[in-house]
Amino acid sequence: MKRKIAILPGDGIGPEVMNEALKVLDRIEKKYEVEFKYEHALVGGAAWDDHKNHLPKETLDICHRSDAILFGSVGGPVAEQHLERWSRVEVNSLLGLRKEFKLYANLRPAKLYPALAAASPLRADTAEKGFDILVVRELTGGIYFGEPKGRAGEGEEEYAFDTLVYARNEIRRIAHIAFKAAQTRDKRVISIDKANVLTTMVFWREVVEEVAKEYPDVTYEPMYVDNAAQQLTIRPSQFDVMLCGNMFGDILSDEAAAITGSLGMLPSASLADGSFGMYEPGGGSAPDIAGQGIANPIAQIMSAAMMLKYSFDMTEAYDDIANAVESVLNDGYRTGDIKEPGCKLVGTKEMGNLIVGKM
Ligand code: NAD
Repeated sequence: MKRKIAILPGDGIGPEVMNEALKVLDRIEKKYEVEFKYEHALVGGAAWDDHKNHLPKETLDICHRSDAILFGSVGGPVAEQHLERWSRVEVNSLLGLRKEFKLYANLRPAKLYPALAAASPLRADTAEKGFDILVVRELTGGIYFGEPKGRAGEGEEEYAFDTLVYARNEIRRIAHIAFKAAQTRDKRVISIDKANVLTTMVFWREVVEEVAKEYPDVTYEPMYVDNAAQQLTIRPSQFDVMLCGNMFGDILSDEAAAITGSLGMLPSASLADGSFGMYEPGGGSAPDIAGQGIANPIAQIMSAAMMLKYSFDMTEAYDDIANAVESVLNDGYRTGDIKEPGCKLVGTKEMGNLIVGKM
């Protein structure tokens, strides 16, 4: 099996952590019947220097002829002199790619490894149990994009408005992604809505219930968003897959990430119809530590693992990488962002090598 991957390391720690993800993919190539063809491309500030564009045509062309995009991170120091280089860099690069490739499904796992329980802001007896949540967020519809939106009137009569709208096909396709993902995990979907107040959410619940019937092996439960926000902090282990519309997913995926306590650990995927997807760490370019060889590569490595699972259907290889990461953490190795008393502190490259060594 041959797979073409567009490699977009970007700025800051992006290239450093990308190198470690590539080492892991090299190992996967040796272990499994798969051949990866990489094409590297510039994005973000790194692309601006040559092209005066954060997402040049050359980069888009490379992405178009690939089966998936592995993305690092973009952005620079806020006080940086070259304002043009950094202005709207995230919007131009990330939203540009989402739009170009119609990436409508955002998958954000939030996993608290028992070994990292101390990093979580949750109460110790809750954190010790660990949790493994996958937030599936609809990314291109809902109130962020609904029309009409705008402002009208004047003075005390001035008002502003947005429109929350979801079409049946938009709900159906994201629900299918959530239920299919659940089939490869613990087979539980909790769909988040506000059906007690919003007409759109009554419809959301109806359509998700229809889709749920097509997956008898997966248990389904609806939950109001306000309750879900509480339950995440009280009993996070009850969640396997959380299915959300755009705005609720935006908020709850950040909450789920926050309770793991470690930004450098969290991968993400943005999927289009078919098997195409873009995979990237949850964090940014971390200019404060860039170039020092101390960034945590696990988010980038797990993003590559998600690519294997969701774009290339290589669930076994995904598990292989996930188990290697967990085993290295259980051995006490930590990068600076997740360090704790008594741990074995390592840099970016060593962490990558340790993970490859476990595979
Ligand atoms: P950030 O995620 O880059 O950094 C926040 C903190 O987390 C920093 O202290 C950083 O050192 C730490 N951190 C992040 N990833 C880490 C890792 N892998 N290992 C160790 N520590 C890590 O967020 P920020 O400081 O708000 O933004 C910095 C730049 O990144 C900005 O230009 C911002 O626009 C951009 N950004 C890009 C993306 C993206 O490319 N997807 C996402 C968020 C922010």
